[in-house]
Amino acid sequence: MKLLNGIFPAQCVICEDLFVFEDQNLFCCSCLSAVKKEKVYYCRSCGNKIENCQRCLRKRFFDDIRIFKNNDRQITEILYYMKIKGFKNLSSTVSGIIKDDIKNFVKENKINLITYIPLDRKTLKERGFNHLEEILREIFPSFLIQDAVEKTRKTKLQMELSRKERLKNLKGAFRLKRDIKGKRVLIFDDIMTTGSTMLEIYKAIKKGKPEKVYGYLIAR
Ligand SMILES: [Zn+2]
Ligand SMILES: [Zn+2]
Repeated sequence: MKLLNGIFPAQCVICEDLFVFEDQNLFCCSCLSAVKKEKVYYCRSCGNKIENCQRCLRKRFFDDIRIFKNNDRQITEILYYMKIKGFKNLSSTVSGIIKDDIKNFVKENKINLITYIPLDRKTLKERGFNHLEEILREIFPSFLIQDAVEKTRKTKLQMELSRKERLKNLKGAFRLKRDIKGKRVLIFDDIMTTGSTMLEIYKAIKKGKPEKVYGYLIAR
C-alpha cells in the first residue's frame, strides 16, 4: 500500500510537534524558519566574542570573517543530525539557509578559492562524507571548492580542553596540500566554539602565501 506523507505526519525532533513533511522528515517549518540571519558581535580578525579584540590590535589574522547567526538549539540540532547522525541530504536544508549570505560574501570579497575544515582520514571513513564540503557543493560550482588543507591526525574535542591544552591539541594537526599562492581564500566552518581550529587552519593556509584569507561561519 502506498503511504501518503500528509496522512502520516512526522514528529519534529526539536519541538516534538507533528508536521506534514516534504523533502525531509526531521524538522518542522517553524523550527526551520527560526534559523535566520542575525546580528552577531565578534572580532572580524579572529572571531573572538569581543568586538575590539585586544590580541588583534597587535596582530591581524583574517582579512575578514562573516558569522551568519548566534548559536542556538535549532542550528545545533540540524548540524548534529547531518554530521553525527549521517543525514547527508540535510545539505540542501543548510545550504538553503545560508546560500544568499555566503554568496554575497564571496562576491564582495572576490574570493576565488573556497575550502573547509578537514576531517582526519579515520573520521571521514566512518562518516562517509564531510558535511561542510556537501553544504558548499550545493551552493558553489566545483572549481571554486578545494580541499586545500588536510588533517594529519585525530584530535580531541576542543570543547573538553583548557585553553593551553587546546593549542597543544591542534598544533601541527593541519597541513596545506594545494598550491594557493596569490589566491583569495575562504575557510568555511559550521559552529565556532573557541576559534582555535579556525586559527590553526588560517596558519596552515598562510604558509601558501595567499593574497587574502577570509572566514565564514554559520554560527558562533
Ligand atoms: Zn519543530
Ligand atoms: Zn580578534
